Amino acid sequence: MTQIEDKFALESFGFLARLNYYVIKKGEPMAVPKQKTSKTRRDKRRAHEALTPPAVSLCAKCGEPVRPHHVCDNCGTYAGRQIKAAKE
Ligand SMILES: [Zn+2]
Repeated sequence: MTQIEDKFALESFGFLARLNYYVIKKGEPMAVPKQKTSKTRRDKRRAHEALTPPAVSLCAKCGEPVRPHHVCDNCGTYAGRQIKAAKE
């Protein structure tokens, strides 16, 4: 293919044609999807990818934010008991 034909090939065909073109040009075997994934299908797939904020409660002793069921990082207590040394 000449330079002009290459440019024509890239501009006149869609996403998959361009993808296939690069696969052929590189000469390496590669799995190529048969059809482009629509924005709707892509976004439906990502519907479950939302992040949930971490659960945070306040330490009963010092009032610092702590993860539930974890020793307080600030004062070292858990359920009223001293588990480890308090942070200075
Ligand atoms: Zn604490």
